[in-house]
Amino acid sequence: MNIIFMGPPGAGKGTQAAVIVKELGIPHISTGDAFRLAIKQETPIGVKAKEFIDQGLLVPDDVTNGIVEERLAQPDCEKGFLLDGYPRTLAQAEALDKMLAAMDRKLDHVINLKVDRDKLLVRITGRRICRTCGATYHIVFNPPKQEGVCDIDGGELYQRADDNEESVATRLDEYGNKTAPLLAYYGDRNLLRDIDGEQGIDVVSQDIVSLLRG
Ligand code: ADP
Ligand code: AMP
Ligand code: ZN
Repeated sequence: MNIIFMGPPGAGKGTQAAVIVKELGIPHISTGDAFRLAIKQETPIGVKAKEFIDQGLLVPDDVTNGIVEERLAQPDCEKGFLLDGYPRTLAQAEALDKMLAAMDRKLDHVINLKVDRDKLLVRITGRRICRTCGATYHIVFNPPKQEGVCDIDGGELYQRADDNEESVATRLDEYGNKTAPLLAYYGDRNLLRDIDGEQGIDVVSQDIVSLLRG
């Protein structure tokens, strides 16, 4: 199963991806997570990506495509993959088409998590992430049992540097201008599946699982 999760920042892609990859036993490929790791490790890609991420801008396509191409070539992707937050531009979608054609693979579903813009700011500014395992929480909608501590491994929860109001405004504009046009790109190919992302986390997961079970 080869799947893409689309939706604006804060729609719940990462939260749902964690559930669905467990269910399907396929790798979760998040370009945002890959960039955050590269930034932490201070690799050349991390240094370059940081300039853009800090401002809420998309990282240039060549850098982003390179990361995904390398990741898809890993043996664990042979059974399928879930791309979260990629592609985000038409050029990325075209690059992905080429990568998949070269591997003789096809997309099965592009899952579009629909959430109204006015709900996203509160989701993003309340997001907290585990430093150890990357699990995602929300201070109100999905709080950990103990404040600031990951339920899974006791890791410290932190707030992403780009999860502030100024950056969110830019990220939402980037989404509207560059990423939203991809909905038509995949819609025209009958790959787009809309999911109501404003429901509770468990209900959204159930909707995605039923869709994938077809
Ligand atoms: P994305 O990966 O699309 O940017 P996340 O999965 O990180 O989004 O979710 C953004 C924030 O919203 C997180 O704090 C998460 O806990 C919370 N969240 C995710 N899904 C829901 C939901 N269905 N209802 C309420 N809050 C949610
Ligand atoms: P995310 O974790 O998906 O919210 O991504 C965090 C940030 O990483 C984004 O605001 C972008 O700056 C960058 N990023 C992640 N994925 C991509 C992508 N496919 N193309 C360009 N930039 C990306
Ligand atoms: Zn954790």
